[in-house]
Amino acid sequence: MARTLPFRPADAGYRIAYRLQETNHCPGCGRSHWHVGRMTAECAYCATALPIRTGQTVGEGLVRSHGNAPTFLAA
Ligand SMILES: [Zn+2]
Repeated sequence: MARTLPFRPADAGYRIAYRLQETNHCPGCGRSHWHVGRMTAECAYCATALPIRTGQTVGEGLVRSHGNAPTFLAA
């Protein structure tokens, strides 16, 4: 039985993504007019769609617990 490895994004190579706050040129036509949605941005000329890179954590690790909040004594 063949063993399959889980998907590892780091091994997928260079990934094109739309970056907010930057000028993005379309990889399909080179223009820079986009229709930006919540998850993807689509080129207004050739309809190439790119995922939006937000730097968010998805899945495990999304919620982090730091324990109890520190208490400070009033002087
Ligand atoms: Zn385009």
